[in-house]
Amino acid sequence: MYIKVLAIVASVLFSVAAMPGFASGASGPSGVSGASGPTATATQSKKPTGAYLYVLGVAQDAGYPQAGCYQPHCMPGWQDPLLRRGATSIALVDPAAKAKYLFEATPNLPAQLYDLEVQAPSAETPLAGIFLTHAHMGHYGGLMFLGHEAMGARSMPVYAMPRMQDYLSTNGPWSQLVAYNNIVLRPLQHNVAVSLSRNIAPRKIAPNNITSNDNKSKVTVTPFLVPHRDEFSETVGYLIAGANKSALFIPDINKWSIWETDIAEIIQTVDYALLDATFFGDGELPGRDMSKVPHPLVTETMEALAGLSAEHRNKLWFIHMNHTNPLLDASSEEAALVRAAGFNVAVEGTRLPL
Ligand SMILES: [Zn+2]
Ligand SMILES: [Zn+2]
Repeated sequence: MYIKVLAIVASVLFSVAAMPGFASGASGPSGVSGASGPTATATQSKKPTGAYLYVLGVAQDAGYPQAGCYQPHCMPGWQDPLLRRGATSIALVDPAAKAKYLFEATPNLPAQLYDLEVQAPSAETPLAGIFLTHAHMGHYGGLMFLGHEAMGARSMPVYAMPRMQDYLSTNGPWSQLVAYNNIVLRPLQHNVAVSLSRNIAPRKIAPNNITSNDNKSKVTVTPFLVPHRDEFSETVGYLIAGANKSALFIPDINKWSIWETDIAEIIQTVDYALLDATFFGDGELPGRDMSKVPHPLVTETMEALAGLSAEHRNKLWFIHMNHTNPLLDASSEEAALVRAAGFNVAVEGTRLPL
């Protein structure tokens, strides 16, 4: 079922590579910024002109601290609101196309939308759509804020796979979003790229200054199926390819060995990989054999990629951390270990130029 992912994803990449300005295998995370990024101060003051990804949330579905958890690892989060973390979400901002997109609609959507507004104001880059990976609460639950009782959105495009679309249109309360046209479902297909170029009506932004009616987006978004607990929907990851760089976004996946794509191989074809880091390693869930937990442990991912060059290892950004995962604390021993091995831990505000 997943056998063709690598080949087809690679072919999409080749077509992107043919575009002018594509620097395949560009060295290191140049231009990358974030609270822990090496060039944060150098790039954050400049207003980006090219498309980029922006990290809005890094925790597992339930966020940090987790409801009802008063163990020592969650207590700092209850006591200090600044330590709280929203569920995993990234934004794609495309200034040339005057558009921005969300990947995932999390239960923390109100605050994440505000963070995105500060970074990329809607007056210049209005929200043009939301891409969903699957029907687990942290990934789509925030759609409720688009509804009648909250934002009352008008025809917001929501990109979803066939089972996910069916689930949203036939089950309340989500079906009301469809019935009231708060959202418009846009179909996705496994391994079929969506171009984000679109015709937008000419818009007067200042006297005598009318914007062009076709956006200049060079960005494509390609969903691909990944193995996960698929009770209500299938689960996808995304390949997001810009004019110069591309990123994998796989917030939830079963063990790498169950996916028929070789993670160590595919990482070499992209510039960034934001990957499932739900659990760090052994002993994290008392009484559970962590090798049987249906996620790749961070320790397993580091082991699988240990043979890659420093340049390739540096593409990896761990994301989607459970409330038990010590990577949520940048000052933890485990976070230092990950950085020392040449990998990155995603934090809110990380910016990855495409
Ligand atoms: Zn999740
Ligand atoms: Zn999930």
